[in-house]
Amino acid sequence: MEQPWFHEGLNFTCTRCGQCCTGQPGYVWVNDGEILNIAEFLDVSVEEVIHKYTRPLHGKRSLTEKLNYDCIFWEAEVGCQIYPARPTQCRTWPFWESNLRKPSDWEYTKSVCPGSGQGELIPVEEILSRMKQVKM
Ligand code: SF4
Ligand code: SF4
Repeated sequence: MEQPWFHEGLNFTCTRCGQCCTGQPGYVWVNDGEILNIAEFLDVSVEEVIHKYTRPLHGKRSLTEKLNYDCIFWEAEVGCQIYPARPTQCRTWPFWESNLRKPSDWEYTKSVCPGSGQGELIPVEEILSRMKQVKM
């Protein structure tokens, strides 16, 4: 099988700058299991998470945004308030298929995510594993 262009791995260490959690409208999809994880982490009911922190969209659920489009769980100076229980979409970034189809996609990702292209060398196996977990 042909090796992906990033077969030697890619560098990534999150700087916690928050750019991917703030600033622009977007979707952070959450399924039932992820909602349960958040509820357990916050020690509240599943219903509370659904009503306070998610919204229905296209037959699925996304995390709610604040009026300025920041993710409902983003707090300045603190960061992600549910970091250990953050959804798969957040855990797998920046190793989404849409960011890795070709080297220029990765170059663009580096331009919007300061953690991409620097820091820890993530092996190709780990990158492919994260890519499989979400279709973005
Ligand atoms: S944009 Fe990149 S470096 Fe900044 S918080 Fe998101 S993943 Fe981390
Ligand atoms: S859940 Fe956390 S990591 Fe994901 S977008 Fe919201 S603040 Fe960012």
